[in-house]
Amino acid sequence: MDLGLTGKKALVCASSKGLGKGCAAALAAEGVELVLNARGAEALEATAAELRALGVAVTAVAADITTEAGQAKVLEAAGPVDILVTNAGGPPPGLWKDWGREDFIKALDANMLAPIALMTALLPGMCDRGWGRVVNITSQSVKAPIPQLGLSNSARTGLTGYVAGTSRQVAEFGVTINNLLPGIHATDRAVSLDGGVVAKEGITMEEARARREATIPARRYGTAEEFGKACAFLCSVHAGFIVGQNILLDGGGTNFTI
Ligand code: NAP
Repeated sequence: MDLGLTGKKALVCASSKGLGKGCAAALAAEGVELVLNARGAEALEATAAELRALGVAVTAVAADITTEAGQAKVLEAAGPVDILVTNAGGPPPGLWKDWGREDFIKALDANMLAPIALMTALLPGMCDRGWGRVVNITSQSVKAPIPQLGLSNSARTGLTGYVAGTSRQVAEFGVTINNLLPGIHATDRAVSLDGGVVAKEGITMEEARARREATIPARRYGTAEEFGKACAFLCSVHAGFIVGQNILLDGGGTNFTI
C-alpha cells in the first residue's frame, strides 16, 4: 500500500533509539524528510546517518524535549512540518507515598506538557495548510494502570484528555491527532524495567523477560519496527478519518473486551 507520504516532512521526538526510532525509520521508508531529536548527540547522529541511507534528508537536533529551551531549539530547526510524533523518556517506577510535587512536575513536563507545547506550536501551520498528522507515543497505562508507574499513569492520562478534545477541534482542517499506546516492547526501556525486577528478586534477565512474556497473549515483546509501521499508517493519507483514538499495541496484554 502506498501511504501517500512521499515528500512530507516529520518531526519525530526522542528518536535516536527505541519506539521513536522505529517511527522515524518507518516514515523514512515512505520517503518522509525527517527532523530527529534526542539528548545524546552520538546515538542521534548514528541514527540520522542510518536513516539518510534510506534516501531521505535528515536533520538531527540534540536537545532535551522536556524543557522549553529544548523545544524552542527543535522547533526552530524543524520549521513547518506535516507530521509530528511526540515522545520522551518515561518517568521512573516507584511507590505513591514517595512522590512529591517535584516528581509530578517533572513527569507532567515530560509526558504531558511537552507534547502539548509542540502541538500548540505546530497545529496552526498544519491547519492553515489543510493537512497534518500528530501521533503521541503514550502507554498502555492510559487504559489500565501499571501501579508502580503512577507518575506515568497520571501524566499520560492528562495528555489523553487534552488530545480527546483538541483532536475534535482540528479535524475539520484535515489534521488528525491520535495516540499510540505501547505495551511491552523490546527496547532499552523494557530492559531497564526488567533490570529492576532482577535487582529486586535476584533472578536473571532471561527469567525476568520470560515472566513478562508469559503475561502477554502473543507471548513475546513487541518490536520497534512493527510499532513504527503502525505509526506510519496513522500518518498516512488513508488514516484521515481516524480521529482522537487511543490505539493499543500490546500483543493482547491489556485484558478487557472494549
Ligand atoms: P528507549 O528505548 O529508552 O528510547 C528512548 C529515546 O528517547 C532515546 O532515543 C532517548 O535518547 C530519547 N529521550 C529520552 N528522554 C528524552 C528527552 N528528555 N529529550 C529528548 N529525547 C529523549 O524508550 P522506548 O522504549 O522507546 O520508550 C519510548 C516511550 O514509550 C517512553 O515514554 C516509554 O515510557 C514509553 N513506553 C515504552 C514501553 C516499552 O515497553 N518500551 C511501554 C510503554 C510505554 P536520549 O536518552 O539520548 O535522550
